[in-house]
This record gives sequence, C-alpha cells and structure tokens, in this order.
Amino acid sequence: MSKKGRVFSGARPTGRQHLGNYLGAMKNYVALQDEYDCVYCIVDVHALTTVETTRDLRNNTYDMALDWLAAGIRPEESIVFVQSHVPQVMELHTYLSMVTPLGKLTDLPTFKEKVRENPDNVNYGLVGYPVLMTADIVLYQTDIVPVGVDQAPHLEFARETVRSFNYRFGANVLKEPQMKTTEIPKVLGIDGQQKMGKSLNNHIELAATPEETRQRVMQMVTDPQRMRRTDPGNPDVCNVFTMHKVFSPPEEVAMIDTECRRAGIGCVDCKKRFAENLNKHLEPFRQKRAEIGQNPDTVWDVLHDGARRARTIAEETMTAVREAIQLPR
Ligand code: SF4
Repeated sequence: MSKKGRVFSGARPTGRQHLGNYLGAMKNYVALQDEYDCVYCIVDVHALTTVETTRDLRNNTYDMALDWLAAGIRPEESIVFVQSHVPQVMELHTYLSMVTPLGKLTDLPTFKEKVRENPDNVNYGLVGYPVLMTADIVLYQTDIVPVGVDQAPHLEFARETVRSFNYRFGANVLKEPQMKTTEIPKVLGIDGQQKMGKSLNNHIELAATPEETRQRVMQMVTDPQRMRRTDPGNPDVCNVFTMHKVFSPPEEVAMIDTECRRAGIGCVDCKKRFAENLNKHLEPFRQKRAEIGQNPDTVWDVLHDGARRARTIAEETMTAVREAIQLPR
C-alpha cells in the first residue's frame, strides 16, 4: 500500500526512555508508520547547545535507539538515524541562515526561555537552533511534521524559512512541510505535580524491572485531599487515575472511578492494580529490548543503515539547493 507522504521527527538523545517519552512521542512514532514513510532522527548536535558534558552522548543515543526499536519502530520501513551522521544538514543550515533575520530568532519564546534558564551559556548554536531544526526537516523533503501545539511556532518558522529560501533563490527546491497537530498529553511525574522528566527524578523508565516499576508506582502522589483510607477520593485530580485510563482495562477504570469516590478502594490497592497493568503492558517491550540488547551492534547497524538511506535523500536535496544558489560547480 502506498503511503501518504514523508513524516520527519527528531528527538534529543536522552537515554533510556520513560513513560512520558512513550506517551508523548514514541507511541505516536510507532502509529505513524502505518500511514507514512517515517524519518526519525536522534538529534545529537542539537543536544550540544545545552549539555555541559558529552560523556553520556553515545550511551544515551544507543539507549534511546534501543528503546525506540523495542517499542515498535520498524527500521526496515522507517529511517532511524543520528543527526551528525548526515553532514549535509550542517551545509543546509548554513545556507538557510543566510535568509534568516537574526531578530526573528532572538524573538522566539523558546530562545528567551533558554536564555532565562541558562544566562551564562547563550551560545551561537542556541540562537541558530531553529535554523538547524528547519534544515533537519527540509533536507529530507518532508511532507508532514507531527507537533504539539506548543511547538507550532517552530514549524511555522521552518515554513517561513523555506519560503524565504525559495523566493531568494527563485526556485522551488525546498518543500514546505505541513504541520500535523498532535495532541501530546502532558504526562505528570510520580510527584503528581510536574511534567515527567529525568532531571526531576519523577519518572518511570520503560526498561525498569517489574519490581522497580512497582516501587515507583507505589511512590506516586494521589489525590492530596485524601488523607485516610476512609476518606472519599477524587479520581479527577489523581495522576494514578489518569494513568489507569491509559493502561488499565475500561471496566477496571470504571470501577475505580466509582469506588474511589465512596472510599470503596484504597490508594495502596489502586496503585498495586496500576503497577500490575503497567507491567503487563510493558512486558513485550522489555522482552524485545532484552532480545535486541543482547547484541549492541544490531542497534548501531540500524542507525548506520538509516544514516546511509538518509544521506541519499539529503544529497539529492543538496544537489538541487547548490544548483539553485548557483554555487560554482
Ligand atoms: S483510589 Fe486511586 S484514583 Fe482514588 S485517589 Fe487513590 S490512587 Fe487516586
């Protein structure tokens, strides 16, 4: 069956993935493969803009790719690769930077946020981040980019940059990517307060053992108003219930919804049930991860093969780009 077009998405190498990564991106990556030709990139160069040390970069890249494959990304169909393995992206980034007004970059809310977070490390790469991101997307003649609502301005930036480039060089060599707005759920951490993330240590790793997973689940914060077992709870404000809705069978979700409100079920029991359902859900992932992980070369082979396929598309684009710019042959 022919597919609807090419999807591109990139993610920083953050190592072993957690439930937030799974629900926020990986699940969607896997599903998109049925309808689109997918290009999934581990953007290691982007990571350099904010990391202090590159010590873990290789391991994080490996672990992330391993998790992607274990979750169901099919490398025989999709292109999975590492950004720095396709040097053409740096070249395109440079050309695109020539049609990008500096003020537009420094006005972007994400740039301002990064400056606030890290005022002592406002490097050139950080300013040019959206230009490199645009190069990532358009190098592969991408049709569709799945984005959450908060990333929409970045894609709009990419589209405008493509238009500027095509206009400036009088040729339609770069394809304007379309946005596929995806509802990206905000997955809270076990603290029930903040977005799940490694830096906050409020995450549940997909590759954790069943026992580790159970322990993390048992630490989850529930309805803060429910102090005693005999108090009725409110599942609508409870992160455990939110997770039940994703991983537990509907009858069980309905039962908890009712019983929690009349103190018919306690939080300990409720969390045990969630841990069990989550572990059941993650079992095939863990098995596949262990299988692939037996031979680490498998993961690197996938990434190298992906880069080879990506470079072929990239070189075609760059040939047209150099021609449009009229660079000396
Ligand atoms: S019983 Fe379950 S849904 Fe209700 S507050 Fe406790 S953990 Fe949350």
